[in-house]
Amino acid sequence: MEERELLEDCRVCPRRCGVNRLKGEMGFCGARDRIVVAKAFAHRWEEPCISGSRGSGTVFFSGCNLKCAFCQNYRISQEWFGKAVGEEELVEIFLKLQARGVHNINLVTPTIYTPQLVVALKKAKDRGLKVPVVWNSNAYESPEVLKRLEGLVDVYLPDLKYFGEAPARKYSRVPGYFECAAKAILEMYRQVGEPVFDEKGMIKRGLIIRHLVLPGLKEDSKKVLDFIKSSLPSGVYVSLMGQYMPCYRAGEFPEINRPLPKEEYEEVIEYFFEIGLENGFAQEEGADSPEYVPNFDLEGII
Ligand code: SF4
Repeated sequence: MEERELLEDCRVCPRRCGVNRLKGEMGFCGARDRIVVAKAFAHRWEEPCISGSRGSGTVFFSGCNLKCAFCQNYRISQEWFGKAVGEEELVEIFLKLQARGVHNINLVTPTIYTPQLVVALKKAKDRGLKVPVVWNSNAYESPEVLKRLEGLVDVYLPDLKYFGEAPARKYSRVPGYFECAAKAILEMYRQVGEPVFDEKGMIKRGLIIRHLVLPGLKEDSKKVLDFIKSSLPSGVYVSLMGQYMPCYRAGEFPEINRPLPKEEYEEVIEYFFEIGLENGFAQEEGADSPEYVPNFDLEGII
């Protein structure tokens, strides 16, 4: 099946809305045919093996198939700030970032544009894109659709957000999140395996699972770690993020309308070691500062 046919009866993500995006119909995410991007720049605040000394060539896509009440990027994910671009323009954006010397091309929240990105990545590679491609997603993805990225994506960086059905539905309006995300992550691992680094410690290939610890949900975080431990080799890399800060609609939920207590974050890190996980990243204090949220300004797009 042609990539674009997936958009005619949209089954790009597990919501399977069935709308014809090529004719301008909108499903849950609100995306149509064209890709919308908000910023493309050398990002310095990703994990050290991704940002390195020259930055990660990060492209932020607008729109999302989740509706996280606490989304720090809500201006683009929910309010659709950004500019529509064609596949050719996107290829130019990738190649310009590479020419600036970034370590990789880092596609942030790309899921709803997977068919178009398959086409754009093939073209970019034909035109000389050599740096690793990082797929930085929320993991609510279909394994069958992810299979189309095999050989085009080098590093998968999914954010495995919840184990429990209740918090996923409450805070992100998503049914069956864990079941879908777990299958998606196993498909990602099948494609790229454990991380491989170059002589300077930069990632060339492999899976790193991110997890953002939410206030009051440390037991859910532990279940996420249990899944990783029981389903993947113990050498798998996990990036435990403690950068939560209440924003967007977090005020509607008093229990998450507060910063993440340091003790809750530390307890999850301790659990990581207790169950025998070995490799990963944790964040230093201060990573929850608003200054780490990019300023969405169409940099690198126009
Ligand atoms: S990508 Fe958007 S329209 Fe397509 S199935 Fe997912 S939420 Fe629905």
